[in-house]
Amino acid sequence: MAAAPKLSIVIPVYNEEAVLPTLFARLYAALDALAVAYEVVFVNDGSKDRSAALLREQFQRRPAHTRVVLFHANFGQHSAVMAGLAYARGEYIVTLDADLQNPPEEIGKILEKLDQGYDYVGTIRQQRQDVFWRRALSRGVNKIREWITPVRITDQGCMMRGYARSVVAALNETREVNTFIPALASLYAMRPVEIPIAHEERHAGQSKYSLYSLIRLNFDLVTGFSVVPLQLFSMVGMVVSGFSALLVAYLFVRRLIIGPEAEGLFTLFGIVFLLIGIALFGIGLLGEYVGRIYAQVRERPRYIVQAVLEAESRDAAQ
Ligand code: UDP
Ligand code: MG
Repeated sequence: MAAAPKLSIVIPVYNEEAVLPTLFARLYAALDALAVAYEVVFVNDGSKDRSAALLREQFQRRPAHTRVVLFHANFGQHSAVMAGLAYARGEYIVTLDADLQNPPEEIGKILEKLDQGYDYVGTIRQQRQDVFWRRALSRGVNKIREWITPVRITDQGCMMRGYARSVVAALNETREVNTFIPALASLYAMRPVEIPIAHEERHAGQSKYSLYSLIRLNFDLVTGFSVVPLQLFSMVGMVVSGFSALLVAYLFVRRLIIGPEAEGLFTLFGIVFLLIGIALFGIGLLGEYVGRIYAQVRERPRYIVQAVLEAESRDAAQ
């Protein structure tokens, strides 16, 4: 383990006891076949099932190729990946989900691109195996995101991606909480590229994400990379108040000439409710940004590592 390997694989693991055995079998076989020096960095994100025990077992089976970072609680997928990136020592780093939705046999394709000098290899899922509402949702969300942020990733959902050391170094220096790693990396990269990749159904176990957390993720993605929503909102506010001013002026003149009016009450209600809705949305939107600032100023650690399993101590390896 003394020399840094060429390739590091980073895998966040949260309650994945059902898939881990198959993952180990397929992943290590695929990596051995590549014939490069590699390490696999598993980050156990506070699993409540037997995942940690299974990872420990795998570490004992393949100590030279395996490192396991154990969190002491659940800090979320992106914190887990950030920890994996911080511990990874490879020249190339590939992130992967534990659930085998991205076949490990495809890692070779990413490696090839990295070898060609690309520093960020994004992926686009072929024959995406997800329920239809997730596909429809991500199409819509992509459009909105491309419209208001500088982030250009065709398929945001797929975590199987490759990064060169230079990009990972920049990621490791980023102190931002609630960020989206592929989007950030695509901004840091000098020579990004995207390749098609096979996509399968989750091998076993349950998706850790509900519709709610997907909506949250996309709010983070938009508010984390752009203030355009706020600017758009003030534009809307400006137009609306312009029209209201005209309406007030018109009613005032009408009152002087024709007298007070009582009809059109419900139209007025309609307009008022619409405006209240817009105002509430605006407050919520402000809240998104305030929440991000709040999370940032607390400066809590992104994750807390309980233990690291590796063949040599980190200090000795460096
Ligand atoms: N994951 C994690 N922490 C969490 C939730 C998920 O480390 O709090 C891991 C999970 O073990 C998996 C990856 O993140 O390796 C993606 O999760 P999942 O497959 O459930 O997401 P989906 O593919 O449904 O978007
Ligand atoms: Mg998955």
